[in-house]
Amino acid sequence: MDTFDLRFKKPNAGDFISPKALHSVEHMLATALRNGKCKDSVLYFGPMGCRTGFYLLTTGLTCEEVFSALKTALVAALAMDEVPGSARVECGNYLEHDLADAKRECTAYLTLLASLSEEEISAEEKKRREAHAHG
Ligand SMILES: [Zn+2]
Repeated sequence: MDTFDLRFKKPNAGDFISPKALHSVEHMLATALRNGKCKDSVLYFGPMGCRTGFYLLTTGLTCEEVFSALKTALVAALAMDEVPGSARVECGNYLEHDLADAKRECTAYLTLLASLSEEEISAEEKKRREAHAHG
């Protein structure tokens, strides 16, 4: 199993994801990942309590596959015209959502992912394999 810390925000830099956007991105990306082609390899997706990002737990995926699945999920989230599962009967805090702000966060993170080179991604994969080999 692999845990990915998806940092949307620089830690302790004074800029955090709003509680509404954090909650909406959780619904949107969890739904998009569940509907994506790697759905059987995604174990968990959820928000960090510090509101700087999200945790993604996967099994059997390379970093390249995770990056690709994330990009696809972010594009799918940006195409949503409502937050999935945000009806009162489906969500424990259905008023705490903000689709527009969630999309701003997704756009910023997509831009960040797109700025990573293939070399950087394969360096991550090398680190992941080494971590598995040693432990
Ligand atoms: Zn909810």
